[in-house]
Amino acid sequence: MPELPEVETVRRGLEATVVGRRITGTSVTGARSVRRQPAAELRARLEGRTVTAVTRKGKFLALKLDDGQVLVIHLRMSGQLLHVRSPRGVAKAPHTHIVARLDDGSELRFVDPRTFGEWWVTEDTLEDGSPALFDRLGPDPYNEGLTAATLASRLENKRTPVKAALTDQRVVAGIGSIYADEICWRAKVRPDRRADSLIPREIKAIARATLAVLASAVEHRGSSLKDASYKDLTGEAGSYQDRHEVYDKKGRACSRCGTPIARLSFGARTAYCCENCQH
Ligand SMILES: [Zn+2]
Repeated sequence: MPELPEVETVRRGLEATVVGRRITGTSVTGARSVRRQPAAELRARLEGRTVTAVTRKGKFLALKLDDGQVLVIHLRMSGQLLHVRSPRGVAKAPHTHIVARLDDGSELRFVDPRTFGEWWVTEDTLEDGSPALFDRLGPDPYNEGLTAATLASRLENKRTPVKAALTDQRVVAGIGSIYADEICWRAKVRPDRRADSLIPREIKAIARATLAVLASAVEHRGSSLKDASYKDLTGEAGSYQDRHEVYDKKGRACSRCGTPIARLSFGARTAYCCENCQH
């Protein structure tokens, strides 16, 4: 599932290609990809509008339009955005559910095999023009930073495992299973620890690890796993998967201490960790 670094990579691609472009028309062929409003309404709201900015909070993309509306896109499990400069002759990939045509002749295509992803257009916005739902998310560590004090206050009284808390989008926005495991390894904290058992030194380590892991993953254009479909806007894979320390590395030696990486199960969750150097 695309997490903050992958969605940020897509955002940068969109910023470079669709800002300033007018949407001349939209085709919706996958009903589940537009489910918060009728497809005809989405098409009507987008037609003739110019994209003025592309922002992100957590895993949500917001394409601001010139009339104050926002096109919100969430990729969920397998959603992928592709920008096709010269669409003529470029066959649509299987599972292409939405196509937005732009005034420079290019197309923005939404491909989503598992169909959990979605697009919707809303005028329900905050003062800065972001969609109102951004207010219900925790801080985005990449955009806003994350201090130990902020993290401590957001984890206060959380009886859930650390991994569950870090992937709760109301606690911090943008972290999913891959980066939660990588952050916990870097912070030397077990992902199955109860969040309310963390001491200040550990919370500080998690906050620092969060910033470091996410920044490095954005720099390497996200992680493309063998079983997942994440690609950037031009169809290129990311490379941060080559730097994963624990995620999906069961049995491989921990790069810090040599202990084989374990795959933990707790509740309905799994996590990868080094049981020797994470406590
Ligand atoms: Zn270790």
